Amino acid sequence: MKCTVIGGCGFLGRHLVEDLLEKGYEVNVFDMKTTFENDKVKFFTGNLCLKQDLLPSFEGVDVVFHCASPPPSSNNKDLFYRVNYEGTKNVVATCKAAGVRKLVLTSSASVIYEGVDIKNGTEDLPYAYRPIDYYTETKALQETVVLEANNPADDFYTAAIRPHGIFGPRDPQLVPITVETAKAGKMKFMIGDGNNLVDFTYVKNVVHGHILAAQKLGKGSSVCGKAYHITNDEPIPFWTFMSRILVGLDYDPPKYHIPYYLIYYIAMLVQLIGYILSPFVSIQSTFTPMRVALAGTYHYYSCERAKKEMGYKPLISLSEGIQLTVEHFSHLRNKKSGS
Ligand code: NAD
Repeated sequence: MKCTVIGGCGFLGRHLVEDLLEKGYEVNVFDMKTTFENDKVKFFTGNLCLKQDLLPSFEGVDVVFHCASPPPSSNNKDLFYRVNYEGTKNVVATCKAAGVRKLVLTSSASVIYEGVDIKNGTEDLPYAYRPIDYYTETKALQETVVLEANNPADDFYTAAIRPHGIFGPRDPQLVPITVETAKAGKMKFMIGDGNNLVDFTYVKNVVHGHILAAQKLGKGSSVCGKAYHITNDEPIPFWTFMSRILVGLDYDPPKYHIPYYLIYYIAMLVQLIGYILSPFVSIQSTFTPMRVALAGTYHYYSCERAKKEMGYKPLISLSEGIQLTVEHFSHLRNKKSGS
């Protein structure tokens, strides 16, 4: 099997590349940048929005994994639309031009989340009417593009994997940002009662879901044209997870509770003030009601469909994943703790 991983130099993409090589796949990587070297990989550099950039990397390829996206932290609406929506349309068109038969997209479970509790949410739930941010809105758009492109008559098969809260070695966001926040003394408080369950998914399990989907796609398969939640299947209170990472790296866990609605309405007020002042001054605040909701609501998802239809089962437990992650980030350990 020959495959191309778009975004193969990113956090998830690189783990996917490593596991595909281990399984004997021939692997091309297509990305805007090159972040690692590997003699077994053929690297292509370019922009996925451009057909002439993508096409050479799809030559003779059976399956394309599309796991590229601008980072959610980017505030560039135009970029999200161009890359996630129009770029994904280009990925589909280029697959067809190159004769690629299978396309697996990395979507996100957040496409159905609106900032209110979701408990064991299934793929049957509709896309969020009010998505939490523009990044998520364009993730839903790109998922639609990919799933609607599934067409057995053309011998073209697609599926979307919806992970949630990916963590693991080399993660550029979750652990480094949590540690930075702790160092700045801003990790003393937890939003709400601390009981809200959330999915955090170890990166190798997310990779496993992608590879299973690629293996299952094909004529007559029930996997075609569908989205699949891929989680660790062990929802954990949001603040317990954060605390386990922090304690693992010798930082104090958050101790004090702030009532959820108090902090939510303060964030709304901050947003309103930003809006009123926007003709005069641009205020980019990360303290938004949606960020508060992400930390204070339940949002965990059922992966029953992936279990039944793809034979998915997490390979690494949550505890093992946390341990491997903490070990990887030992260079971020709290030097002041004395241990
Ligand atoms: P990442 O930022 O580490 O990797 C994304 C890669 O895409 C980068 O290497 C980047 O250079 C590349 N890229 C971006 N725009 C490109 C373009 N125009 N052309 C070519 N390459 C481009 O992100 P990640 O955390 O590995 O996320 C991978 C995928 O998983 C994304 O689609 C993301 O939306 C999805 N996802 C991530 C999480 C998470 O918790 N990290 C959760 C749910 C879904």
